[in-house]
Amino acid sequence: MRQYLRMERVRDLRQLPKAHLHLHFTGSMRPATLLDLADKYGVHLPEALTSGKPPRLSATDERGWFRFQRLYDIARSCLRSPEDIQRLVREAAQEDVRDGSRWLEIQVDPTSYAPRLGGLIPALEIILDAVDRASRDTGLGIRVLVAANRMKHPLDARTLARLAVRYADRGVVGFGLSNDERRGLARDFDRAFAIARDGGLLSAPHGGELSGPASVRDCLDDLHAARIGHGVRAAEDPVLLRRLASRGVTCEVCPASNVALGVYGKQEDVPLRTFYEAGVPMALGADDPLLFGARLAAQYEIARTAHAFTDAELAELARQSVRASRAPEEVRRAVLADVDAWLAAPVP
Ligand SMILES: [Zn+2]
Repeated sequence: MRQYLRMERVRDLRQLPKAHLHLHFTGSMRPATLLDLADKYGVHLPEALTSGKPPRLSATDERGWFRFQRLYDIARSCLRSPEDIQRLVREAAQEDVRDGSRWLEIQVDPTSYAPRLGGLIPALEIILDAVDRASRDTGLGIRVLVAANRMKHPLDARTLARLAVRYADRGVVGFGLSNDERRGLARDFDRAFAIARDGGLLSAPHGGELSGPASVRDCLDDLHAARIGHGVRAAEDPVLLRRLASRGVTCEVCPASNVALGVYGKQEDVPLRTFYEAGVPMALGADDPLLFGARLAAQYEIARTAHAFTDAELAELARQSVRASRAPEEVRRAVLADVDAWLAAPVP
């Protein structure tokens, strides 16, 4: 990759304006911040979180996924006070701005933070307050997707959906569903998603990452997904790809995460080209940069180096991310104009 960049004069992908639509809360943390917080609270971190290198994970088997979740849980246990939450969001916003993000939709399951932050409602309020502050400090537009956990009871998801709807005017724009797709069925969560949609929230569940195309179909049929977290395994089913394309359902594709978790063996195998050629809109995302080591601009670098996306195609990817966002119309228009300006500017 480095050699390619030295040989070719290329536009800076950090300057390419884009929207970031797939980023998890704890997973957005800077590694150095995790070390700080672990020190502050006397939390012993496993070497996988201190080595400075992304851990090797193979989430395609249940043990590997469990190991990933365990690392995530340990990192989350270091977020204990409103100040920690504020620091996390502020730094995530700073990193995003540095990578050319103009709009961030971060997803969080407030349930996981509730025990240390005084309950579910206080936890969500602390998170939304931190988002407001970070947005003011950095100038980055930030909104929140409340994500239910697939490993928990569907009734918990309904409670969360109601809560998410109550905070729709405070910055919650969508409802998600995360964790191991191989557990349970999407339709167990259909009521929760109906509550969210009726409340005006975007339906954006995870699907088609650890499980195949059927899990993406379930997200469409049972949860009326307008966006899919990952969705990459839809590449195995041309009919499904056509359906995603014709409905304009955007897949939040996270190439660095896919390889780190063993969904694909190498970058070249992530089906970015297949999606692009099929006309399925994508929003490239970092997923959990704390664990996978790559932030937003790096995903676009992967598209350039591993999949030979031209600058015009990379600009189109950025436009797709913006169009799939919940950013207000005037923000979208401004960012899209800046994407055009990025592409029109001469290569330095
Ligand atoms: Zn995710």
